Amino acid sequence: MSIKENITKIKTDLAVLGVKLVAVSKTKSNEDIMEAYDAGQRVFGENHVQELVAKYESLPKDIQWHLIGHLQTNKVKYIAPFIHLIESVDSLKLLQEINKQALKNNRVIDCLLQVYIADEETKFGFAYDELIELLRSEEYGALKNIRIVGLMGIATNTEVERQIIEEFKELAVLYTGVKQSFFRNEDSFHEISMGMSSDYKLAVENGSTMVRLGSTIFGKRVVKHFKNKEDAN
Ligand SMILES: *Cc1c(COP(=O)(O)O)cnc(C)c1O
Repeated sequence: MSIKENITKIKTDLAVLGVKLVAVSKTKSNEDIMEAYDAGQRVFGENHVQELVAKYESLPKDIQWHLIGHLQTNKVKYIAPFIHLIESVDSLKLLQEINKQALKNNRVIDCLLQVYIADEETKFGFAYDELIELLRSEEYGALKNIRIVGLMGIATNTEVERQIIEEFKELAVLYTGVKQSFFRNEDSFHEISMGMSSDYKLAVENGSTMVRLGSTIFGKRVVKHFKNKEDAN
């Protein structure tokens, strides 16, 4: 199926369930992105700052860009003027830098707190107790130019469905607890971003409000080789 057909079908299926689609366009060309755009898609996700900025500059300005990968503090300034949602906030230090750059740009930047739900060492994110500690802290309370609109998680890359379901359920339960304790009167806290191509159906069944799909829409990615690990954010 073409990108256009994929977008149309998936968007329709998700819309029925009230779930938003983030089209993950990392490594994909502007032509591929425009095919999705012409099919009505406006929300795109990238995990590499340099690539994101280049695409932002050359593509239509009504695209809502999400940063979905680990973000280094020294790169926040490049995306602060335009980023729609930073899904992968994984430290107070990063949140403080986002706040600082948002202030410089005279705006409030929406963020998701990434929670570590996987049984893998490579995944970034807050542990549960770290998340609660952050939300209770004075440092967090002082940040006026960021807005936390929900949580994000990446499940273990495994064939074991039972485990993936468990992890998604844990994130949904945590979300409900955090909402009750810290965001009870804030309608803006409403997103659980979970689910990728391999597991989004399970994610949706277990409370996801936003899925991040790359290969299901655009086809397989060619693996890029970076000069060093820092470039691979
Ligand atoms: C690449 C990526 C995705 C999309 O992965 P697919 O398996 O191609 O759907 C989703 N979320 C994050 C954080 C990613 O880095």
